[in-house]
Amino acid sequence: MEKSKYKYIDDLEAMKSLDITIVCLKTGLWEEHHGKIVHLEHSSEVKPKTKFFDTNTCRCHNCKVGGDPISVATHYKKGNFAEGVKWLSEEFRIQKIPNPEYQPRAQEEDKWKREVSGFKKTKPLIPTIDIQRTEYKVKYQIFDPSKKREADIAKGKECYSSLSYANKMMLIFTDIYMFSMNQKRDLLNTYLEGRMIDAKHSQISKLGFIPVSKVGDLVKELTQNYPCDDLIELGVINDAEHNVPLSFKLWYVKKGGLIVYPSFHIYQTNLVTGFMFRPTQPEKWMIESNMKEIQMSNNDIFQTLPNGCTYDFINNNNAIKGIVEGGPDSLCCPEKINGKDLLFIASPGTSGFKKEQIGLLKGQSLRIMLDQDEAGQCGAYGYTTFHYKETENKKYPLDDKGLQEAEIHRQYLILNKIKFHEAKHEGLVQKCLDAGVVAEVVSWDKKYGLDINDVRKSMLKGKQPFKSMEEFLTKYTKIKRFVKEIK
Ligand SMILES: [Zn+2]
Repeated sequence: MEKSKYKYIDDLEAMKSLDITIVCLKTGLWEEHHGKIVHLEHSSEVKPKTKFFDTNTCRCHNCKVGGDPISVATHYKKGNFAEGVKWLSEEFRIQKIPNPEYQPRAQEEDKWKREVSGFKKTKPLIPTIDIQRTEYKVKYQIFDPSKKREADIAKGKECYSSLSYANKMMLIFTDIYMFSMNQKRDLLNTYLEGRMIDAKHSQISKLGFIPVSKVGDLVKELTQNYPCDDLIELGVINDAEHNVPLSFKLWYVKKGGLIVYPSFHIYQTNLVTGFMFRPTQPEKWMIESNMKEIQMSNNDIFQTLPNGCTYDFINNNNAIKGIVEGGPDSLCCPEKINGKDLLFIASPGTSGFKKEQIGLLKGQSLRIMLDQDEAGQCGAYGYTTFHYKETENKKYPLDDKGLQEAEIHRQYLILNKIKFHEAKHEGLVQKCLDAGVVAEVVSWDKKYGLDINDVRKSMLKGKQPFKSMEEFLTKYTKIKRFVKEIK
């Protein structure tokens, strides 16, 4: 089949930018050994080191296996490129992107035309079809407060085999969450104490916790109650061919425990639709590759909302609503400010809140409180990337400073006749505006801390001029407000 026939294609660029170390370790064919990553497909006495390069590629000293994330995945799937790409997209939840070369088949256009001719013509139709626009149109979710109801979980379990796949997933995820709520929480409390988070914060009671020592029990319980095939398909356990077969997907976390940040169904509020897991004692390679939170969700069968974006969050009319990066940041602010509730969405990374989901907040404001680093700026304002040569590319956030720098770079490339490809990526501000939400970007001086948790920690250590987070938020931050002009 020609490439132009596919409406959506794999995002190979996103796959290539996955951290090569994580990709290697997740295959189970590599392992951390005394601080080095070693290739395991050799006799047990030989543990050859693997070299990792700045170009996000690697190579085994002994057998030369390696390359970029896609070639590692292809190697893992025994040389099958398509299987390798499929594994990456599932394991790292990489969504397909619209195919710029896509041309709808004749039938599809016919269908479209027939639909149009069904309308009463009050004025003459202009016969131009902007395929690009109809194709990419975002279908916003709309919030309807009257839809709230509890799901009958017991009944669901009784007729499990006849349920839709999405419902099966939610039952299994809800069970994982229930399990995580019934474990000892001492390691969780120690972790929160270490991060200087207020133990009385009401959201802490909604977090689950799974000590690593109990992960085996969880898998046992799940495999007794649900078909293994479903658990594999849903990305809860590894498949039988994996190097660590049929074990929990986060088998590579070997110490401490997993903090469980649930995502709830927007209306059936007792159902869990996905997770963000945060290891209390991440492995060294996870820290080095900046891997903080690990997602478990299946957005192809059900669009999971980020943690914190619940029915009560959306429906609260007396609240300031914010979005932060990751779990701990969402627990670092006072719960009330100026008589209003202060509520947070904990987004996994900077782009965890999808455009269509932001539609749920239509008519409201969202305070964007991402980290004060380049990734955070890119997440808030969007960014543009220049791709040129094989491996080099450069990224600029679309804030005032970044826009200027990007323009200088663009002129340089044009003047020097260097071939390049530029790709723009939307940030939260644009997504909010398109969805009818007012965006308020919060910024502060980096000297107070890069993220909200850093700010709070250094304040509690007495290193800051402010004495409370309320004081910090009201006097030491700037808010830039973006409202869409109504035409
Ligand atoms: Zn090797």
